[in-house]
Amino acid sequence: MHPGIEKCDALVVEEPMTPQCVEKLWNSQIGLHLLPVIDLTGTLGVRADLDASNTLKADPTEYGKLIDSFNFRRSQLHPDFYNPQNDDDKILARIFVSGISLTPSYQPDSRTTVCFNTLLDSEMVLHECEKMMTAELLAGSFFDRRHICNGCSASQFNVREECPECRSPNLRESFYLHHFKCAYLGPEDDFRQGEYLICPKCRMEMSHFGSDYDKPGTILICNSCGKSSSETEVGFLCLNCDTHIDGDSVKTGDIFKYSLTEKAVHYLHAGHAFLELTQQSPIFAGLPFELIVVLNKELKDWRNNESEFALLCIKYENEYLVEQEHGNRQFFHSRNQFFQSLSHSLKKVMKGEYPVTAAKGRMEDFILVSHISQKDLYKFSEEAGQRAASSLRLDVEPILQVYGPEDLS
Ligand SMILES: [Zn+2]
Ligand SMILES: [Zn+2]
Ligand SMILES: [Zn+2]
Repeated sequence: MHPGIEKCDALVVEEPMTPQCVEKLWNSQIGLHLLPVIDLTGTLGVRADLDASNTLKADPTEYGKLIDSFNFRRSQLHPDFYNPQNDDDKILARIFVSGISLTPSYQPDSRTTVCFNTLLDSEMVLHECEKMMTAELLAGSFFDRRHICNGCSASQFNVREECPECRSPNLRESFYLHHFKCAYLGPEDDFRQGEYLICPKCRMEMSHFGSDYDKPGTILICNSCGKSSSETEVGFLCLNCDTHIDGDSVKTGDIFKYSLTEKAVHYLHAGHAFLELTQQSPIFAGLPFELIVVLNKELKDWRNNESEFALLCIKYENEYLVEQEHGNRQFFHSRNQFFQSLSHSLKKVMKGEYPVTAAKGRMEDFILVSHISQKDLYKFSEEAGQRAASSLRLDVEPILQVYGPEDLS
């Protein structure tokens, strides 16, 4: 079943590992990504599934529970994922067998500032998961936004206030002084003469704060170029490659906690053929996932053994009109009623002779019938459709279409 790991229960780490070693484990061609990682060294941190470095806390029953749950989930995985070539399939399978979302935590020595609960490097995780969110295989829950270096794409920065003129962070704060008598306003430096404050305009000494002068605000003075200003800029200095980036032009990227979508779970159960099918024809794009899984099986049977099947597709032409007149809820109620009554009547006119899978889509509903010809299902559904429509109070104008294996492959 799992070539290479069928006799293994877990990966036990007994010595601290270099990042290269960890990478080798993840890239192994024998499916090690499907095993729980038990860390006896405590050096893998959250990247391990179980930290057993503290012998006082390590509970042998925890080992058993972890191994059992991985074993159980591994047995539900389609063989396409035992030893996939791509990181994206490995990540999906890994999330599935671990039963836990791919979760980031802060890690200052990581180039991305985070690490995930997996052996795969966080930069690869972020790269692959972004693609899989677009493909609707992963759902993300926002964790944090990071800044990304143009030079080396790392996110470890010194972020600082800088002089708007020369971009030096070597700034000092000073006060504006206001001489009441002559109304002169200027930086404290212009007044200071040793321990005295002398007004540069009228040359009077100012000795009493509050009665001679006050401090209406602060000013920043650059020790590098001498310019003073009331506002500063934000600048990013990359700690890895020394690239300097202005705050308003720095690239950003979002970090999420990643969970499998319903589509991904079906994909993991049904294998590569599932995605191929959904990408193949516009009919499949609107199908509910549970139906695609069954349809996939039927198509295989048809190709291998010429075992027939047909798909009944129900569209509701009056959706817009009924919604306008009676509201959205009435439409859905009537649509439901028709679909239920149709499924029921169909089983009746077919005398329960054919296996049936009914599924509701977003715009359309579907009934897949096994071991039947397209022509027969057409005949049966005409009759069942009339029966079902006669019991409806609101006319949703159902249109029935029947597809055979040729239309779907
Ligand atoms: Zn850099
Ligand atoms: Zn400056
Ligand atoms: Zn003055």
